[in-house]
Amino acid sequence: MNAAELRDRYRWINAVHESGHAVASLALGNHVFYACVDNDNPLDSAFGHVMRSPQGNDTDVTAFLSGMAAEIIERSDGSSFSMLQKGVGSGDWLNIQRYMKAKNHTASERRSIIKLCKVRSLEILKANWPAVLRTARALVATGYVEGDKLQALFSEGEKQ
Ligand SMILES: [Zn+2]
Repeated sequence: MNAAELRDRYRWINAVHESGHAVASLALGNHVFYACVDNDNPLDSAFGHVMRSPQGNDTDVTAFLSGMAAEIIERSDGSSFSMLQKGVGSGDWLNIQRYMKAKNHTASERRSIIKLCKVRSLEILKANWPAVLRTARALVATGYVEGDKLQALFSEGEKQ
């Protein structure tokens, strides 16, 4: 891969990551306000964001893990949650830590919740993979997708 191809590949993976958060949130019945990726900064293609309504329960953990879950499915190179932890997903782990702190869970409770939510996030995204790809394509094209459009991209497959 040359530099331009590498940059495009990172942008695509980044869009898939954010689409994972968005699609899993919608599949869980959460409201999503918007999703965005930074298409203008080739040096920091890892920048992206999804704004969703927090639920205050463990589905929030599933939603936080779903960016990395989408990457794992898309990369299909044996990447794992722990491998991605120090990279793109580090902000997601901070959010999970904050959530766990607020809940006062024990270390073993935290481990079992995270284990379950990892499995759940992969299941949800595999079941909705065409929606992840549709959303990622829209993000790559425009950099920003509103909640209504995200919902439409998510629901598109149900009409068929
Ligand atoms: Zn993320």
